[in-house]
Amino acid sequence: VMNATVGYNYLRGEFTEPYEVMEKALVEAYAAGYLGKEVFGSDVDFDLYNHLGAGAYICGEETALMESLEGKKGFPRFKPPFPANFGVYGKPSNVNNTESYASVPLILEKGGDWFLELGKPNNGGVRVYSVSGHVNKPGNYELPLGTPFKDLLEIAGGVRNGHKLKAVIPGGTSMPILPADIIMETDMDFDSVQKAGSLLGTAAVVVMDETTCMVDALLNITGFYSEESCGQCTPCREGSGWVERLLHKIEHGQGTPEDLANLERVANNIAGRTICALGESVAWPVGSFIKHFREEFEYHVKHKKCMVAGA
Ligand code: SF4
Repeated sequence: VMNATVGYNYLRGEFTEPYEVMEKALVEAYAAGYLGKEVFGSDVDFDLYNHLGAGAYICGEETALMESLEGKKGFPRFKPPFPANFGVYGKPSNVNNTESYASVPLILEKGGDWFLELGKPNNGGVRVYSVSGHVNKPGNYELPLGTPFKDLLEIAGGVRNGHKLKAVIPGGTSMPILPADIIMETDMDFDSVQKAGSLLGTAAVVVMDETTCMVDALLNITGFYSEESCGQCTPCREGSGWVERLLHKIEHGQGTPEDLANLERVANNIAGRTICALGESVAWPVGSFIKHFREEFEYHVKHKKCMVAGA
């Protein structure tokens, strides 16, 4: 369709097992004539390469991915120009997730309407929900877009140990958290999750039960993003470290009311001031955790300990 003659399948550095599977699949695809010169006797040439990164989270950002593919440091690029104009090796490029490409054969076979009708209006098709955290059966579940969260939770075996649900991050840890009463009434599609106050993002659903300390959970998340910041932008590089250190103080009984105020201030000053969305990945969790669970942060500051039993 695009007249592209080459494609790259970029995998995160740790994904050695899928890489080996893909390498074998490429050999089979070339042998069967799906890839290479003059595919099935046509005038279409197409080569596909698997490429392992070096294990950086930021290389999931499409322009950092292309830099890494070109053999450079995985630094996100300024945009514009966008990849459709100036992509890998400066050529117009189309970047999509494996999940999206995996839907294409079925759509070609059964039609776009068939695919759309699997989901909800304006939220067609299916999604792979990657459920982790405090559930009995964590895993990847391919389900129609718009599946109610309560059904997804049941499919994932319910909350572990008969505990009560406390909160869920519906779209990967960079997205805002939602408390149990809101998520239990929410359908897992783009529009519904946005209306509820978060985003469906990667559909990586993190389930937290009543034993979760929200300060500790947020420290864990922001520590990850601080570690993975590529360091190009000052607000992200410095801000994510500040956020982590402030949370570390609060979590370990050394926080002051000023620390809590500074936490919000620093996070707000990262969002919208960076090259890529990793800045928001720090700011959005901070804002939403404090919005929904402020009393836990204040309790940590005031009593120098956690209010959550079993945390
Ligand atoms: Fe790098 Fe963070 Fe800037 Fe993204 S926002 S380019 S990760 S420093």
